[in-house]
Amino acid sequence: MKTSVSNLRSKGADRIGVMARRLTQLAHIPVDTLDGVGPRSAAALEEAGITTVLDLITHYPRRWLDRTREARIADLRPGMEGVVVATVRAVHSRRTRNGRALVEVSVHDGTGSLACNFFNQAWRAKQVHAGMEVTLFGKLDAYRGRRQMVNPVVDLLGDATGRIVPVYPQSEKAGLTTRDLRVWINEALERAGQLVEPLPAEVLERQDLVSRSVAFRQIHAPESMAVKEVARKRLAFDELLRLQTVMVLRKKALEREAKAIRHVVGDGPRATLVPRFHAGLPFTLTGAQRRAVAEIEVDLGGPHPMHRLLQGDVGSGKTLVALSALLVAVQGGHQGALMAPTEVLAEQHFLSVRPLLSGLKVGEEGNLFGEREVRVELLTARTTAAERRELLPRLSKGDVDVLIGTHALIVDTVEFADLGVVVIDEQHRFGVEQRAKLRDKARGHDPDVLVMTATPIPRTAAMTVFGDLDMTVLDELPPGRTPIETTWARAPLDVAMAWETVRRQVAAGCQAYVVCPLVDESEKVQAVSATAELERLAAGDLSGLRLGLLHGQLPGGEKEAVMGRFRRGEVDVLVATTVVEVGVDVPNATVMVIEDADHFGMAQLHQLRGRVGRGVDRSHCFLLGGTDDEGRPSSDEVAARLGAMERTTDGFELAEVDLELRGEGTILGTRQKGRSDLKLASLRRDKSLVEAAREVAFLLVGPDGRGLSRHEILAEEIRDLVDDEEAEFLFKS
Ligand code: ADP
Ligand code: MG
Repeated sequence: MKTSVSNLRSKGADRIGVMARRLTQLAHIPVDTLDGVGPRSAAALEEAGITTVLDLITHYPRRWLDRTREARIADLRPGMEGVVVATVRAVHSRRTRNGRALVEVSVHDGTGSLACNFFNQAWRAKQVHAGMEVTLFGKLDAYRGRRQMVNPVVDLLGDATGRIVPVYPQSEKAGLTTRDLRVWINEALERAGQLVEPLPAEVLERQDLVSRSVAFRQIHAPESMAVKEVARKRLAFDELLRLQTVMVLRKKALEREAKAIRHVVGDGPRATLVPRFHAGLPFTLTGAQRRAVAEIEVDLGGPHPMHRLLQGDVGSGKTLVALSALLVAVQGGHQGALMAPTEVLAEQHFLSVRPLLSGLKVGEEGNLFGEREVRVELLTARTTAAERRELLPRLSKGDVDVLIGTHALIVDTVEFADLGVVVIDEQHRFGVEQRAKLRDKARGHDPDVLVMTATPIPRTAAMTVFGDLDMTVLDELPPGRTPIETTWARAPLDVAMAWETVRRQVAAGCQAYVVCPLVDESEKVQAVSATAELERLAAGDLSGLRLGLLHGQLPGGEKEAVMGRFRRGEVDVLVATTVVEVGVDVPNATVMVIEDADHFGMAQLHQLRGRVGRGVDRSHCFLLGGTDDEGRPSSDEVAARLGAMERTTDGFELAEVDLELRGEGTILGTRQKGRSDLKLASLRRDKSLVEAAREVAFLLVGPDGRGLSRHEILAEEIRDLVDDEEAEFLFKS
């Protein structure tokens, strides 16, 4: 929502006046209105994504060099981090054997010399030259007796005087020096003067936050590291508060949708279906499942449509909870729908749901006996035209109670008689519009929505990404599961052991999965490689076993056919691509071999591994790959990821490790865009700040959802600064 520069010019808004104090105003002032910024600098700034004064002052340092920790080269020991001020002696550029750009810079400081190796930063060769004085921050390594730093942080000394020196990201590449940035930011802050405070004084006091003006000054030119941290806390809080306020507004807006169905719940005379369903199961619900069902029933019986997220680890029994919610709709005479992201998953849901419902009766008016069986149907892209012609009229008449399917559920020709509860599985794979479309299938009212994620995400991340939903966590696995033993097969001997285990388990009557290397994102390429892998295994490590092939490119009924053979035990080993990632449930499978495991993310590995350990037999998971020829981890990150997989099977713990390793970008990216507003805040480091921001957001938005009108500046910032397509809509109501 930034107005174009020319537009502003014509409005004469190109001067920072004394009154320009709101962040939203700074967002409208082009950066070249600063005295120090000429056309060349403006172009370079633009390349770094900085076009307005607000962009400039929120271009935060990537790190701060603490000159008080300055060391002499001779005093640094291998493994120690330190700041060194030194003179450049020589600069050499070359390519490494595997083609990476390497710039070698040697420096000395009178006490000793140091080699600095910069990988993939060819531009360094232009940045530094012999005779120049530089400040370096990094960890000292000793490599073949030479003292070196790999990719240290560089600061061109210039005339920086403070003891804490900010270092800005990406700037050198665009030809911007840290020194220039410091000067411009200083000018911008000087001329902006006092910044308006959007938060009430009580909030500042209770959350122990400094004023925004102080925070902006201190983040760019801190007097000490402690002061810098105080400033960072305030500015990170602002980022989190804006996001949380959007989430809370959205939540309140959903709650205002008044056309909810008050479902029949509890144990009254009309609410017998769900209790009978539970009583007829071959097992008893876990405590967590009972709590989840109870929470959901409160929502369903209440005056607002449900918007709830069900989180639970792989195998925690989410399907049962979801089905209970759908049956609440059915027992009140409404319909339920379950939408899954893939055909395999939808079919799997259908197959696991149908036996659970068999024999379950629901009351029916006009039927002589007053009841009939609960009817579940499946609708995917594979449903034939003839089947659709038969199914769709029954659906629109209300003869189908629960419809399970894929995106096929939301096409225009699908009409429900009375859709009451919607379950969306793996919701991050669906866009906002697709979810809205499914909701629109319920005419005349807003259906209750339960969203499930197969992959747990840490609490603070869930609060940010799914902050508009209520949350239920299934924190208990059904009894009798034996833990999966995971081995990262680093040495050739381990790999041989993996195949040996497959053969042994098959001999004992169990089954196995082999997940093929993820050579390419393309389904076609994956299919080819899976086929080749099957042939290789059939002729070698797994010869004599009955192998089946499963990949996304298999035509029509073949996927289902091979899954059927595997389920019935007619196939010993399923060689597959990641289509087996979610939902596939064959308790007799006890071995999972994942080839090139280092190519998969942690969530995916956890999902894949969750395909075994579903029965009472001891299960094994082997992770292949991720090492060099001598069995050493190919990188620290791979070692951490695969090591964590070996250490624990707890999905929430793995999610924390994942967040630690990859940062929030990936998690935030799983929902709609607009989560890129976190420049300083970190979902992993700032957990308590996330919670505090959420609390304050609820406070400011108020119970009726209209409190923000009393916090006009914050409201304006959210409207103008939060990159969220829905932020604007939220203010319309
Ligand atoms: P999730 O979808 O959470 O990964 P599922 O719903 O697929 O887990 O359930 C995993 C397996 O556990 C299924 O075979 C299911 O029948 C079984 N199951 C679910 N709840 C229970 C329970 N309370 N006791 C025993 N087994 C259960
Ligand atoms: Mg499941």
